[in-house]
Formats: sequence, structure tokens, C-alpha cells
Amino acid sequence: MRLSYGSARSLNLISSGPVLEMKTIYTMFGERCVFDCAYCTQARTSKSSMDLLSRIVWPHFDLEMVVNALKNANDVKRICLQVVSAPSVKAEAFEFIRKIKMLNVPISVSARISSFEEAKAWFDQGIERLGMATDVVDEKLYETYRGGKLEKHVELLEKIANVFPNRVTTHVIVGLGESEKQVVEFIQKMYDSKISVGLFAFTPVKGTKLENKPSPSFESYRRIQISHYLIKTGLSKVCNFDFSKDGKIMGYGFDPTMVPVSAFETSGCPNCTRPYYNEKPGKEPYNLFKMKV
Ligand code: SF4
Repeated sequence: MRLSYGSARSLNLISSGPVLEMKTIYTMFGERCVFDCAYCTQARTSKSSMDLLSRIVWPHFDLEMVVNALKNANDVKRICLQVVSAPSVKAEAFEFIRKIKMLNVPISVSARISSFEEAKAWFDQGIERLGMATDVVDEKLYETYRGGKLEKHVELLEKIANVFPNRVTTHVIVGLGESEKQVVEFIQKMYDSKISVGLFAFTPVKGTKLENKPSPSFESYRRIQISHYLIKTGLSKVCNFDFSKDGKIMGYGFDPTMVPVSAFETSGCPNCTRPYYNEKPGKEPYNLFKMKV
């Protein structure tokens, strides 16, 4: 199994690099996915290093070593399993969940799910939340970049959330060619169905099909973060928003200067921080997170 570099540092399994406030420990199971998402480092035909997921390095560790480090750790508020769709990965992930369940730390699993039964099998293991990435919110781009039908994926998300309300998270990548209006309408649809949204900024990584595509502008990403906050908290709804002809957000039905800084922190499952997942150290981060002091 693997740990994100920041998680391994925080669990003292490696000794170099800055110590970040890692309320969530990120693990990864499997590599080289059977699917072929155009933006993903682990995609079937990606030429990126197998040690990468987005721009983060994930070193290998022995499963027992990670379980023991977690037993001795303080302040871990969530454990997230990033499960790559690769052969025989599930058995190892299930074994890990069995071994960490007695820690009573909420567990999230992020996996590509293709049926209700598959989702139920993960919940039956005792996980608290299931992450089912949508990534692409434009129908055509979904087919091109991810494969399959967005409509079918949303139907499945809603079916699962109907049985497991407030226990499903979906990921959205901003900056793949969709409009701001499409993103915020999708966010509204998800919260109406009791599904949380984790926002990601598109990050070009060498070796992926989209390695030359630029990241979104900060102005656009901040508008989407403000919208996400207002929708999530119920302070406004998309039906109160104003948009330009090309789908840019022009108004929120709420004074955006009243939005707190927390609106710009990493979103998704509670306590998810994903430090440096989208951002280079030393540069303005898309999603705010804390260094340990
Ligand atoms: S939102 Fe964060 S904790 Fe939840 S599944 Fe996604 S990466 Fe994991």
C-alpha cells in the first residue's frame, strides 16, 4: 500500500519535508487503473510516474507498519483510501479497513463505483463515507475525458445517496472546459441530493493526455468556492445567481464580502485537507490548508 508524502511525514514514517496539519491521512491502494481518464496520472495509458496521484508522491509502505503508526498517532480525524481500479486491490483495501476499524476514526473510500451493490459492499465494511468522483460536469467532456455517460453516473450517485444520505462525497475538477454555471448547477444538484462536493482545480501533470492544458484562473476558482460555500450552507441557491451569456458567475444573491475565509479551504468530506494536491509549494494555493506550528 502507499501513503501520500504528507501523510507519511505526519505519521513519522519519513523524516524529511515540512510537517503539515494532516487531519486526514491519505492512503492509496493499487496502481495503473483499468480506466483511462485524460487528466489522471494513474490512467491506463498515462506515462506519468506510478508514484504520483495528481502532483503528489505516494511512497510504498508495509500495511502493518501503517496500521501501527495509525495506532500511535494523535489527532487523526479521518483516514481516506484512494482505491485505484486495478486487479486484486479491493482485497488489500478491505484487509486494511478491518485492521483500522477499531481505531474508531471515520473512514472515507474514494473509488470508481459502477453499481449500487458495489457501493453497499464498501459501506458493509464499516466505512463512514464513499467518495465517487464525477470530475467532469459537462456531458460531452465527460465522455471524452472520462468515458461513459454523465447522466448514468449521476443517477447512480443519487440512488446510493438516497439509501446512504450524507455519506456520499463527489469530486469535481474545475477548469476542464466547462462553464462556471455548469459547475455551480451541478453543486446545487448534489447538495439537494445530500451529496457533499470536493472541489479540485485542474492540475496538468506531465505524462497525462492533458499535460499541456492550463490550470483554471484563481478568480474563476474563487467564484466557484464562494458559490459552493453559499449552496452548502443554504445561504443562497443557484436560482438566485446571475450569470453572463457564457456562464460566468456575475452575482450570488448574497453579498460575497460576507463569506468567511473558511469558504476557500479544501472541501469534501469533513476534515479533508489534501495539501499540495493542486498547488505547488510557495505559490498561492487553490484550496487553503494549514502548516503545523
Ligand atoms: S473528499 Fe477528501 S477525504 Fe473525502 S474521499 Fe475525497 S479525498 Fe478522501
